[in-house]
Amino acid sequence: MRVVVKVGTHMLSEQNRLCKERMLALIEFLVSLMSSHEVILVSSAAIAAGYTRLKIDKKVLSNRQALAAIGQPYLIETYNKKLEKFGKMAGQILLTADDFDSRKRTFYAKSAVQTLINNGILPIINENDATATEEIIFGDNDQLSAHCAYYFDADLLIILSDIDGYYDKDPRAFADAKMYKIVQNINEEELLMPQVGGSEFATGGIVTKLKAADFLLKRGKSLFMASGFDLEDVKSFMIHGVHKGGTLFTCKGD
Ligand code: ADP
Repeated sequence: MRVVVKVGTHMLSEQNRLCKERMLALIEFLVSLMSSHEVILVSSAAIAAGYTRLKIDKKVLSNRQALAAIGQPYLIETYNKKLEKFGKMAGQILLTADDFDSRKRTFYAKSAVQTLINNGILPIINENDATATEEIIFGDNDQLSAHCAYYFDADLLIILSDIDGYYDKDPRAFADAKMYKIVQNINEEELLMPQVGGSEFATGGIVTKLKAADFLLKRGKSLFMASGFDLEDVKSFMIHGVHKGGTLFTCKGD
């Protein structure tokens, strides 16, 4: 079974630095998952990683692009250091939304991903921020990861976020919010909710996750959303086959 795992900026960074403890926990989980699954990682946080090295105004678009250019290799280097502990390494693939509009480019990217997987290497995908300007302003890797899951033939997309699932209302604003365990369809109203993100660097918020889920549900695929701060729920679901916490978006009946 092939899975795409997407991690958000908030999970990977803490007070303007990369959170190496959470990155190590993530890599530990991914390496254990790699023994039974084909795993592709979609990782955000290039801009946040760049900002650890150069303090320039993140609100300026060209600065954000420069920060991504500085941060992306630093991010991969950090991942590789963690992977080395387990005898593994990463392969970086940078994509833009346009790549999925071209069958030829999608095919080449998919072949590269396949070859990395065949060689036991963890493909780490991110947006090519220097050219994907629109994506930097409005975009997020939730959308990119949904495309990767669909076009690279994964069965499941796992989104690890700063929240442990999808609730009936924003759990940070409402103490009585209840988490959905299984969601089988998403209605228009939910897709039009105002965007609320959890951190200074986060660009997604819950709506982009719902859009990713909607995209996949319409194509017969599933999405599992769980906490990236505490990996117990995703480990339980993926490694022990027990759905304790986290939200599963699926079109298949339970
Ligand atoms: P990430 O950085 O992991 O991509 P974001 O911080 O952009 O994630 O988005 C997740 C945030 O969305 C949560 O921390 C929460 O504050 C907010 N949110 C708003 N409405 C909901 C909801 N109904 N269920 C879960 N989270 C919600």
